[in-house]
Amino acid sequence: MIFDIHTHDISARNALISVNPAEFDPQPGAFYSVGIHPWRLSASDEDMKLLESIALRDDVLMIGECGIDKVRGVELNEQIKVLRKHVELSETLGKPLILHCVKASNELIALRKEIRATQPWVVHGFRGNANVARQLLAAGMFLSFGEHFNADALKVVPPGRLLVETDESAMKIDEIAKRVAETRGVPCEELESDVLQTIQVLLHRML
Ligand SMILES: [Zn+2]
Repeated sequence: MIFDIHTHDISARNALISVNPAEFDPQPGAFYSVGIHPWRLSASDEDMKLLESIALRDDVLMIGECGIDKVRGVELNEQIKVLRKHVELSETLGKPLILHCVKASNELIALRKEIRATQPWVVHGFRGNANVARQLLAAGMFLSFGEHFNADALKVVPPGRLLVETDESAMKIDEIAKRVAETRGVPCEELESDVLQTIQVLLHRML
């Protein structure tokens, strides 16, 4: 089964379960990413303190989802402020970021350059076009694709930067992977082994 880099299904395994710090309820054998989603930003100092303590755990492999959403969520400056805190945490702990990005790829690219982030950043649920994909790739980012995606964008992503996810989809990860493989014109097994290698590079571990 292919690894699912981003889901909100707390019963998922062979997956990274994304939760808000206040909802974190670790289960044996599960892996997590923990962060404050830009839709539900009320990032008080308390929320950030809770996040910082949870993020230290071995079963928390990435920081996020966090990010910028220009269509939904609180005021842009506030979103960027909270995102910066997640970036700092990611750099301090040496754990990659998983990002929610809606109409904000330029802001993400600028922030990554300004901070000179060394940790990998994964833009999840990528639905942008091939141009935006190229810009994010050139800035060093990884892209994760779910149920809905732009076929041309999917084709420009090199194997070492490509991930797949269910997020909140009712579709199973294997069905999504099958669609992704078909669109790229590669066998499912090839996609699966490419994704596994990418995960190992990203997280510095076997899963
Ligand atoms: Zn999500």
